[in-house]
Amino acid sequence: LQSKLPGIGTSIFTTMSQLAAEQQAINLSQGFPDFGCDPFLVEQLASFSQQGLNQYAPMAGVLPLRQQIAALIARCYHQKVCPEQHITVTSGATEALFCAIQALVRPGDEVIVFDPAYDSYAPAVQLAGGATVHLALLAPDFQVDWQQVADAINDKTRLIIVNSPHNPSSKVFSASDWQQLQQLVCQHGLYCISDEVYEHMVFDGRPQLSALCFPDLAARSLVVSSFGKTFHVTGWKLGYCVAPPALMVEFRKVHQYVTFSSFTPAQFAVAAMLEQQPEQVVGLAAFYQRKRDVFCAALSGSRLQLLPAEGTYFQLADYSAISELPDLEFCRWLTVQHKVAAIPLSVFYRQPPAQRLVRFCFAKEESTLQQAAEVLCRL
Ligand code: PMP
Ligand code: GLN
Repeated sequence: LQSKLPGIGTSIFTTMSQLAAEQQAINLSQGFPDFGCDPFLVEQLASFSQQGLNQYAPMAGVLPLRQQIAALIARCYHQKVCPEQHITVTSGATEALFCAIQALVRPGDEVIVFDPAYDSYAPAVQLAGGATVHLALLAPDFQVDWQQVADAINDKTRLIIVNSPHNPSSKVFSASDWQQLQQLVCQHGLYCISDEVYEHMVFDGRPQLSALCFPDLAARSLVVSSFGKTFHVTGWKLGYCVAPPALMVEFRKVHQYVTFSSFTPAQFAVAAMLEQQPEQVVGLAAFYQRKRDVFCAALSGSRLQLLPAEGTYFQLADYSAISELPDLEFCRWLTVQHKVAAIPLSVFYRQPPAQRLVRFCFAKEESTLQQAAEVLCRL
């Protein structure tokens, strides 16, 4: 069989989580919480299932959840979206990204992505017959060079994929970034996929912005988010896509044949959570900012150099003062010899730059973070 994805192996998240488990290491690699979700969510899940809501949900998602998503968007971004026409619930953001890419990208199209890039974008573009054009965001500040983006746009360019707050750099777009993106997308008649799964984790009083806040951009965007991140339930694989009706029609054609619909009781449970405890979403930024601060303070005596983390639940660290190993080898060494697992940054690049950076996930109990930091301070 000739592979359709010849360059693709096992994802770094699987690799590092497996190694961490084998080595009984503290797993700060793959991004997921080591603490439970709110018990209310679990009760609601059980309750809706016991009530018999165990059959297929409507293809676009159960209406109460779509209504709550519209209310959330109104609260966070002061934008009005229609639950029936603009929103589709998906099996995680991963499915939403995949469907959005399949809906938009035709053979021969070019798609601009920014490296370091989340790992699911390029394979989905490749399966659609398109080609990714990789523009580098470089440490330490991971800014987009919008002039470089303008220069990369040509007749084949169809789509720009952005991710703010950004995994793995934790960079958050400013209003000016969004405006420059909007300008380019509109000027060249492109589309945008905006991966906003960490939208509610923006720190230090920075404004929480979305592609939805910029009407001309929103008119050409599919915006993707994930309840896995927002409610500490990554295993529920529940996310959604928001787009104007003409784009949503095309999105649903794909979603209809990828999964058709997503796990029914979880949709009702999340709808109940959003309706009855909206403050949970509002408090998420402070919750994770505290974890970031605890982790960084605990690492203050280490030889790691910490980069600024403006959002998400990831912290980048430069280990140049500790080791000359390339980052993948450094992460293996750290896991096997010191029992702390992290993610090497080079895997997020098509052409990795000469830098020695690793990503730690701080979505962990404070005791876990302290324990990991103690080890890291001894390096
Ligand atoms: N995009 C980014 C940037 C992510 O970090 C993740 C999850 N780790 C996803 C998408 C996928 O989200 P989900 O787990 O809801 O599929
Ligand atoms: N998004 C998670 C991370 O960046 C991983 C999700 C996955 O394993 N696919 O760590």
